[in-house]
Amino acid sequence: MKIRELFRQEVLTLSFEVFPPVREGNLESLYRAIGELKSLKPDFFSVTYGAGGGTRDMSLEIASKVKNEYGQEVMAHLTCVQSTKDELSGILDELRDSGIENILALRGDPPLGQEKLVRAEGGFGYANELVEFIRSRGDFCIAVAGYPEGHIEAPSLEEDLRNLKRKVDAGADFIISQMFFDNDAFYRFRDRVWKAGIRVPLLPGVFPVLNYKQMLRCISLSNASVPKNLAEKMDKLQDKPEETEKYGIEYAVGQAEDLIRNEVQGLHVYSMNRSGPVFRIIEHLDLPGRE
Ligand SMILES: Cc1cc2nc3c(=O)[nH]c(=O)nc-3n(C[C@H](O)[C@H](O)[C@H](O)COP(=O)(O)OP(=O)(O)OC[C@H]3O[C@@H](n4cnc5c(N)ncnc54)[C@H](O)[C@@H]3O)c2cc1C
Repeated sequence: MKIRELFRQEVLTLSFEVFPPVREGNLESLYRAIGELKSLKPDFFSVTYGAGGGTRDMSLEIASKVKNEYGQEVMAHLTCVQSTKDELSGILDELRDSGIENILALRGDPPLGQEKLVRAEGGFGYANELVEFIRSRGDFCIAVAGYPEGHIEAPSLEEDLRNLKRKVDAGADFIISQMFFDNDAFYRFRDRVWKAGIRVPLLPGVFPVLNYKQMLRCISLSNASVPKNLAEKMDKLQDKPEETEKYGIEYAVGQAEDLIRNEVQGLHVYSMNRSGPVFRIIEHLDLPGRE
């Protein structure tokens, strides 16, 4: 099923993001988590796409297994990094053969040690080019990334928004946002998106902070600002992992409740491959239109 069809039903969508584990042994626990998360009846799982060979193959394998063995709708992430058009074409064929109809088209980050992403020879330099390519290769449903506080390389919010519009004009069906901890930043972004004439659905990315170091890493990789209350609390709890996780979940519940009140079209939860925290978030929420 193409995810874009869900938005016609005007019911809040629910989706969970998972990633291929770096350590082989963790694959089993990922599948266990997916099996558990399935009982929350998400509309789809999204599977991230790694920076290098091994995890890329694993992304495709996981996406295919979630679709065909777990019977769940899947959105496979795909990036332009170090791939020629022919290679990307091969991946699209593989995804289609696995019955996967939904793709999150991304530029990707520069490989470790490189400051800027170098366009692969015979490949693409920006996500809008990948969107156009995927469109030309068949009837996929395509999502793209949006940045409430601006992409880290963007010279300005206006420029970043123009680039988001390029992706939508190239054929993207909906947008999933980068994580954010300040809902007002998301609402301001949603207003700018609307004013720019972008009319596709926009799903907020909900990221529960489960440990202090992870939060610092995420902030350094994104432009997400951290509200004073969250920063102070996390600082105070940094040596108490259980309390950090408990507060992180509480904070995510508060964010999600406020997002629902403000009529977002769905919640895309960064699961970090763990079912427990996601259950604890979802059980606190009243999800309109969902059982
Ligand atoms: C929901 C979500 C999921 C993600 N999943 C993954 C994943 O699975 N694997 C992974 O490696 N990374 C993933 N990322 C990270 C993403 O790859 C990085 O943020 C990357 O740096 C940008 O990707 P993009 O698709 O947004 O790029 P683009 O939209 O191409 O934008 C990149 C930068 O270039 C600018 N720009 C865009 N188009 C143009 C243009 N035509 N001309 C000039 N400038 C332009 C933009 O303003 C921006 O600053 C994800 C991000 C999000 C928000």
